[in-house]
Amino acid sequence: MTTTKDLIALESTLGAHNYQPLDVVLERGEGVYVYDTDGKRYLDCLSAYSAVNQGHCHPRILEAMIAQARKLTLTSRAFRNDQLGYFYEELAALTGSHKVLPMNTGAEAVESAIKAVRKWGYEVKGVEKNAAEIIVCANNFHGRTMGIVGFSTDPAARNNFGPFAPGFKVIPFGDAAAFEHAIGPNTVGFLVEPIQGEAGVIIPPAGYFTRVRELCSRNNVMLILDEIQTGLGRTGRLLAEEHEGIEADVTLLGKALSGGFYPVSAVLSNTDVLGVLQPGQHGSTFGGNPLACAVARMALKVLSEEGMIDNAARLGPYFLDGLGSIRSNHVKGVRGRGLMLAIDLYPEAGGARKFCYALRDLGILAKDTHTDTIRIAPPLVITRDEIDGALEQFAAVLEA
Ligand SMILES: *Cc1c(COP(=O)(O)O)cnc(C)c1O
Repeated sequence: MTTTKDLIALESTLGAHNYQPLDVVLERGEGVYVYDTDGKRYLDCLSAYSAVNQGHCHPRILEAMIAQARKLTLTSRAFRNDQLGYFYEELAALTGSHKVLPMNTGAEAVESAIKAVRKWGYEVKGVEKNAAEIIVCANNFHGRTMGIVGFSTDPAARNNFGPFAPGFKVIPFGDAAAFEHAIGPNTVGFLVEPIQGEAGVIIPPAGYFTRVRELCSRNNVMLILDEIQTGLGRTGRLLAEEHEGIEADVTLLGKALSGGFYPVSAVLSNTDVLGVLQPGQHGSTFGGNPLACAVARMALKVLSEEGMIDNAARLGPYFLDGLGSIRSNHVKGVRGRGLMLAIDLYPEAGGARKFCYALRDLGILAKDTHTDTIRIAPPLVITRDEIDGALEQFAAVLEA
């Protein structure tokens, strides 16, 4: 009877309080739905920050995982395994990349890209020793490691975690002139999200990335697109860069690369960036393990074969229209691309979190971010009927 309360108390007593979760204790998931310890069903409108684009416990990914787990899980890269080559082949073919570096978490992919691009800067571009600079954007989110939080502009992410590594320059997001101005002789890379996710689904102005691409090419600066959240169908295309008609030099994937079963990330490069890494210069015990590769191969396969990317392209605008037609004094605006959506509330509405609790009570799980924004990102397998149902609940909560 008291399971839910007990479990919340256990987490609170024993766990570090580095998160403040919504008070709902989940024990099961299937497709777009998750179920709490009392058996109550919720529509998941967060998808573990887009890690479960394929839906919870996708049966084909589950089967692939079980089959591989029975055979071989980890060899380390000291030896080869029979899954890694196919993982490279299928991921490279899907994304049009030439080289792949497998890692585990998103933050590790970001760190790996920074290492490779710096090394490329010294060995290929010819930048003076230890002078390489990487440009990043204000309000970025690239993960939580020491290297990454050092160039975060979020006080919560940085305060009292220093000292930080040098070599990063922060500019405003969406401002191509600021980027042009920031480029110097030692600039080796520009690390940027196509749409800023954690910042609250911030979409840059039209033409921004076309200009950024031109500036990178002209100045021999590697464009590193962090598609860990926007990639793999979330925005209605395989990669969000496709909306901009550009190609990154280095692309970072994570999250949905495993459909939420396992941490799998990857650095993809179109140029010789990853070519600078020689034996012994970078690595990870779990990176590229056969279990991760088998899971990721199936996660990619179902994404394409089951029409999930098209579904996001078709139903994203429908969901956004529906949200936009809700009549509410609390709503300042709605925005989104594909199934990556957000509702901005007026400060007078009293914060997004209380609306997320009201939604929870009606069977919808969404996430507040930056006080006044509700973020909405359901699994890409959501149907029109399920969106209609969700829109009724959003309307009920926002019109109240
Ligand atoms: C989630 C995220 C990361 C970090 O991924 P982890 O697996 O949590 O380390 C990096 N970049 C972006 C854009 C993300 O959304």
